[in-house]
Amino acid sequence: MSNFANFAVTDTEFWIRSLIIAGVVIGIYLVALWGAMILWTYRDAQSRYESRQVWVGAAALVGLFNLPGMLLYFAIRPQEPLIERFNRQLEAEAFLGEIFKQDVCTQCNAPITDSFVACPYCRAVLQEPCASCDRNLRAAWTICPYCTADRGQAAAAVAASGPSRTPVPSVAARRPATGGVSLTQTQVKKPVHVS
Ligand SMILES: [Zn+2]
Ligand SMILES: [Zn+2]
Repeated sequence: MSNFANFAVTDTEFWIRSLIIAGVVIGIYLVALWGAMILWTYRDAQSRYESRQVWVGAAALVGLFNLPGMLLYFAIRPQEPLIERFNRQLEAEAFLGEIFKQDVCTQCNAPITDSFVACPYCRAVLQEPCASCDRNLRAAWTICPYCTADRGQAAAAVAASGPSRTPVPSVAARRPATGGVSLTQTQVKKPVHVS
């Protein structure tokens, strides 16, 4: 009888110990999951917000409310990560840049339009009438695109050198080395170009 009683106590203890171990394992698992959720939220917030306070706030939200906090974060976070938003803006700017590509003077890089025959800034001749059909041709064109007349050696030489994109020296670079001499009005008024 005493043997049976001993066995029964041992058996109960075994189950209690097993339950405690299982509880500890499940507890560790839940804590690890909770920590991972906080860490994940912090990193996700980093990719979507610029402010450190928001990263901490989002992580704290999940830390305090756990799964409901995470669902709330999912509901309010921006759809687009910062890097994607940045790339999309770059693409949009490149696209607009293509559409509104600014024509520039081949000599001084000043902004010009298609119809300019000469550069109003540096007086460079931009277009000359075709000897054959009299339509205005760009200085670099080797033949007339309207009547196919050959424009000769001069135009070919211009075309070979290509549109000269000599950078305009900055105001600082053009400032006289000797102090005291101020820039002239024409120097100051020289346009700053968008490349
Ligand atoms: Zn010019
Ligand atoms: Zn022509």
